[in-house]
Amino acid sequence: MEKIADVVIIGGGIIGTSIAAFLSEKRVGSIVLLEKGLLGEGSTSRCAGGIRCQFTTPINIQFSLKSIEIFRNFKEIFGIDPEFHQSGYLFLATTHEESEGLRAGVKLQRSFKLNVESLSRNDIKERWPFIHTGDLLGGTFCAQDGYAGPYEVLRGYVQKARDNGVRIYENKEVVGTLTRSGRVQGVKLANGGTISTPIVVDAAGPYAGVVAEMAGISLPIQPLKRQLYTTPPFDKLPEEIPLTIDLHVGWYIRREGKGLLISGPQSEDYGFSLKTDFEGREFAAVHGMYRIPVLSQSTLARGWAGLYAITPDNHAIIGMHPDLDGFIIAGGFSGHGFQHSPATGIVISELISEGQTSTLKVHSLSADRFIKGNLNREILTAFRD
Ligand SMILES: Cc1cc2nc3c(=O)[nH]c(=O)nc-3n(C[C@H](O)[C@H](O)[C@H](O)COP(=O)(O)OP(=O)(O)OC[C@H]3O[C@@H](n4cnc5c(N)ncnc54)[C@H](O)[C@@H]3O)c2cc1C
Repeated sequence: MEKIADVVIIGGGIIGTSIAAFLSEKRVGSIVLLEKGLLGEGSTSRCAGGIRCQFTTPINIQFSLKSIEIFRNFKEIFGIDPEFHQSGYLFLATTHEESEGLRAGVKLQRSFKLNVESLSRNDIKERWPFIHTGDLLGGTFCAQDGYAGPYEVLRGYVQKARDNGVRIYENKEVVGTLTRSGRVQGVKLANGGTISTPIVVDAAGPYAGVVAEMAGISLPIQPLKRQLYTTPPFDKLPEEIPLTIDLHVGWYIRREGKGLLISGPQSEDYGFSLKTDFEGREFAAVHGMYRIPVLSQSTLARGWAGLYAITPDNHAIIGMHPDLDGFIIAGGFSGHGFQHSPATGIVISELISEGQTSTLKVHSLSADRFIKGNLNREILTAFRD
């Protein structure tokens, strides 16, 4: 294994591999990616694959627009079909506060030339008659939104990175970052080895805070448990339905092949536990049958838990840490990391190769915003996909 590299990426999830892929197209020398387990085994393999433009901050919308451009051309760029279904996202509002939040979002989204529809209860009833609308005030729909396959996208990134010479290692845990005089010097591996490098990228997902801590940096990234369930094939709903989100309770559903993918609750379950629980399964089923009554004719086949990496303002942390030269963070995606992985790969590769980002300005995602009090404000936080 290498003793020296120009860049070391810690974490082989969707973010680390995207960075590896985009960076491998630049002239930055040798790139090594270290994954403590197997590629994609973290949050990436547990995610719902949702991709939406319906955010309420410019930076999140910009990340989505850039990423959707890549997802649409993914096969040409990466040689693998990402299974991108643009079946739209349908947000449902039950309270005036939720309606107001959606309305504010639509105004901003339309300023980005997005065709987001504001819907009345009757509109929803007519277009998606399987939805129980009795308690709804309305909703929004954006046809550009949808979902893709996390595994397919990961494979695309990994293949491109490997083809371009990135050395990717599994079962290689980083246990320390070597620093001197406020500069990164290298990383220490669990097996005792070290790799000298001037640039370390922390793409450790829910463990990004733990990895930063090893370098003496404190990042406000908290792991938060979320659960998902699948049904067997179910033909009593249309073959294509929008990814539908009941904002009031944070429940969502989309097609998964011929079956369905249904979310558990938005509980405040912070920590690294990946245990599924009865309450999660009960919520998925009971709320499912309430919002889409025909689901009473289906069943939940299997479920799993995964971790969001949450920051205090539900926005990612992206960029070089101001207190440690060479330490770059791409973490804290707060439930949006899969969909924002293309844009993240692009901006981090620009940052490393050119010293600054040109595709998107990312100062609003800097690590020091929490100290300076410059937090972002995303209204649609009750639901974090
Ligand atoms: C139930 C659920 C549903 C979701 N749905 C969506 C969705 O619809 N849309 C969306 O955009 N996002 C969604 N997400 C969020 C998405 O999964 C994450 O934002 C994304 O996968 C983050 O990717 P990552 O590469 O940062 O993290 P990860 O995939 O967790 O990868 C980080 C990797 O770093 C490795 N690692 C950690 N520490 C070390 C170390 N010390 N040394 C070496 N390697 C290390 C880990 O093993 C892991 O493989 C969902 C998440 C969950 C849990």
